[in-house]
Amino acid sequence: MRILLAEPSRIGRTIVANMVTADGHDVVCSGDADVALDYMRSGQPFDVLITAIEFASMSGFELCWEAKLCADQSNPVYVIVLSCSHDELKLVEALDCGADEFITKPPRQSELLARLRAAGRLLSAQHDLIRLASYDSLTNLRNRRSFFEELDKCATCDKPISIMMFDVDHFKKVNDQYGHDAGDDVLREIGRRVVAIDKGFSRLGGEEFALIIKAQLREAGDIAEAIRKAICTEPFETCAGPLAISASIGVAERALGVPFDLVLKEADVALYASKSGGRNRVTLSRTGAESGAIMHMSVSKVA
Ligand code: GH3
Ligand code: MG
Ligand code: MG
Repeated sequence: MRILLAEPSRIGRTIVANMVTADGHDVVCSGDADVALDYMRSGQPFDVLITAIEFASMSGFELCWEAKLCADQSNPVYVIVLSCSHDELKLVEALDCGADEFITKPPRQSELLARLRAAGRLLSAQHDLIRLASYDSLTNLRNRRSFFEELDKCATCDKPISIMMFDVDHFKKVNDQYGHDAGDDVLREIGRRVVAIDKGFSRLGGEEFALIIKAQLREAGDIAEAIRKAICTEPFETCAGPLAISASIGVAERALGVPFDLVLKEADVALYASKSGGRNRVTLSRTGAESGAIMHMSVSKVA
């Protein structure tokens, strides 16, 4: 694991650093709480913070808080407080400030390493939960929840953003004629083909997929066309043999001031224009609020 060690005493720092590196951990040391704070705020990854509480410039409890703030939804962090104090109030304060563990100084190597093994197990379980909550287990793509979280993060972005949505053509027939397992094979292979083009794809549900593209419509349209080709060019190997698959795609660019729910609707309208236009095609749509009206212009590209 990657450990951030904040300890004002040089000797104390060296002892703890030697203990944890002997067990294969990477350690970044700081004798200064401000430097440790800057390290955490700079977004550099770490799994465990081991911190003293007695610093000249601030209390180590502030570092505990900061570590937990840095631990966003995708990066859990474990916090161990080291202190000479046997004061129960200090222990309580450390735990209330986000510490997961409190060890009295000087730490014994066997105990510290055992605590780190426990931290490793907990972090690994947390990573599993995060993955289960954010990814679709069939395709390994991000799930619907993760897609909308990402969209929320883009709400204040002032750069061009386009949304692509696609839906597999006649997928019900695949299930009906070749069985649900063959349908699942197709969805898995769709996952593999689309991440080869962009890792950000999400499975919104069933056989519907989406991507947020930080680009204007023209560039997003090129990605959509690459996806369309990647799906229809090579047959899909399934448990029922090779199957020819295609998808219909809709892309919409957000115009200034247009909320994302409208952009999604426009991408969906564009997708259905691709369906009604004969499937296996890309339709581009531009939304814009002018005099309260939404403009909608579609262009279709066919195979
Ligand atoms: P269209 O070209 O108009 O999109 O027709 P379609 O047959 O693809 O559309 P429809 O929405 O009728 O069919 C979607 C099918 O996807 C129905 C559902 O049983 C199937 N489906 C949804 N989720 C899964 C899944 O996880 N695995 C499999 N095998 N099938 C799924
Ligand atoms: Mg479909
Ligand atoms: Mg569908």
